Amino acid sequence: MLYSELTAVYERLENTSKRLEKTFILAKLFEHAKDEDLHELVYLASGSVFPDYEEKEIGVSSQIIIKAISTSFGVSTGEVEKKWKSIGDLGKVAEQVATIKKQKTLFSMHLTIKKVFENIKKIAEMTGKGAIEKKIALISELLTAAKPLEARYIVRTVLEDMRVGVGSGVMRDAIIWAFFGKQLGIKYDEKNKSVEIHDREKYKQYANAAQQAFDRSNDFAVVIKAAKKSFKHLGDIELEPGIPVKVMLALKVKNLKEGFETVGKPCAIETKYDGFRMMINKTEDGKIKIFTRRLDEVTAQFPEVVEYVKKHVKGKSFILDSEAVGYDPKKFRYRPFQEISQRIKRKYEIQRMMHELPVEVNVFDILYFDGKNLISTPFKERRKILNKIVTESKWKLKLAKQLITADEKDAEKFYHEALKEGEEGIMMKNLTAPYKPGARVGYMLKLKPELNEFDLAIVGAEYGTGKRKGWLSSFILACQDKGKLLEIGKVGTGIKEKEEEGLSFIELTKLLKPLIIREEGKIVHVKPEIIVTITYQEIQKSPTYASGFALRFPRMSRLRPDRSIKDIAFLEEIRKEYSMQGRKRK
Ligand code: AMP
Repeated sequence: MLYSELTAVYERLENTSKRLEKTFILAKLFEHAKDEDLHELVYLASGSVFPDYEEKEIGVSSQIIIKAISTSFGVSTGEVEKKWKSIGDLGKVAEQVATIKKQKTLFSMHLTIKKVFENIKKIAEMTGKGAIEKKIALISELLTAAKPLEARYIVRTVLEDMRVGVGSGVMRDAIIWAFFGKQLGIKYDEKNKSVEIHDREKYKQYANAAQQAFDRSNDFAVVIKAAKKSFKHLGDIELEPGIPVKVMLALKVKNLKEGFETVGKPCAIETKYDGFRMMINKTEDGKIKIFTRRLDEVTAQFPEVVEYVKKHVKGKSFILDSEAVGYDPKKFRYRPFQEISQRIKRKYEIQRMMHELPVEVNVFDILYFDGKNLISTPFKERRKILNKIVTESKWKLKLAKQLITADEKDAEKFYHEALKEGEEGIMMKNLTAPYKPGARVGYMLKLKPELNEFDLAIVGAEYGTGKRKGWLSSFILACQDKGKLLEIGKVGTGIKEKEEEGLSFIELTKLLKPLIIREEGKIVHVKPEIIVTITYQEIQKSPTYASGFALRFPRMSRLRPDRSIKDIAFLEEIRKEYSMQGRKRK
């Protein structure tokens, strides 16, 4: 397929904010694509060259793009920067420069999606000496061959800033419309931008199957190829140890009563450990692989966990869900998450870190065991399997402490004991429920003492003045709603001046600078990759921010390197919390 066919689609997607229309546009693209193009097409359509489960990033900064535009079109980097400042989008800068230059040379080749995909993938995989020059050369090779509109999207793909608004929900529905549209009687009215679905029940069933297939594989290329074959093939997509699965998420409850009402009686009550999620896989050939909830692989960072799993868990292959908690190796006391979070990203001195900041693994679920997928097996039965295969060893690997009860008094006692021991709170779990990857369905609840806090993404920042000159010192925060990021205020407190005192302006500036996609005076816009926990005193309505809310007295309490953009607070949660606040005051 020619890349120009895809860029025409990108442009249409960019020009509409309507979800149904986006679905229709993508569905048409998929329906008419050839088998051999599906792989590249699916990744490029969602603005990437990797499946969701791969932690790889394309990793090209704005500076590299500026150089590439400059070499490709023979304009100075100063001129490119000047245009960037006035247009604010390097994609459009490339398009504009290409338009001017191409009028003179009339030269453009026919780029195919395969060629674009191949070059961008090479860029992402290039490291070491001379990598920057090679990356610039690979981008330039594409830009010199590109038509102006193609230049826009090549640059945006490389920068991982597509702005076409294709989330995983649109992708999933587009696959269904493309391959089962006729069968389900889906009729899209292009004029009124509305849809008619003849068999709604069946449609739901198909959408669920596609969602499940995606939750299991985390790879739309696998889903689309199966869907193109048949509905049955979709259902056949299986978990595979070694390929990360999305974790099941917890809903928040206010008290034990609400908890019991949601998960039923009796239920399982477990300690809520204050660490980070670890999905531990043992592949058929005996390799241990560890993933975070963002699906990043962290096996190399936790060699001790690999050993514990080999020694303390029986079985040829499995997928375990667990929480790793840090502890002080001298005093044998648990440590809060922020003290060990640095181990997650650490690439050097792993042995030293392992001795200074060891972790204990608390296993609480199992999704796969010895060739058998267990996600539809009731939780009670899954825990029984865990009891059989785990040999517990304190400070290394053990099972999450659990009580099965229908009695609110016993539950209350468990909760208070957990808090007394310094734990965060408790989890309440439905004993008969399946495991739902990626879903927040109320099979698993969290209860902790009331704390006003949300996990939010940093989407921008402002350079400071005076003592903080040169550092980013105020940070723009966003929550999520239907796949969009909505701003909810700024935060500048809770952050230290000196690096050794904890989370500092220096550290945040270092983290954010490579993520800058646009600058407007003192304000920068960044890729939303840094997630932080923000505490606040109160939620207020606010016309200033797109979310419609602002946080009063926000304070940054910690970085969450284990979380991704998909984990941040939903607008709906904030709205709910806001209305509860009113009730409490009355
Ligand atoms: P939160 O991070 O506040 O949404 O709470 C849910 C998180 O608690 C999960 O994602 C796990 O990382 C963590 N957790 C700690 N202990 C448990 C447990 N026993 N069962 C499930 N999740 C747990």
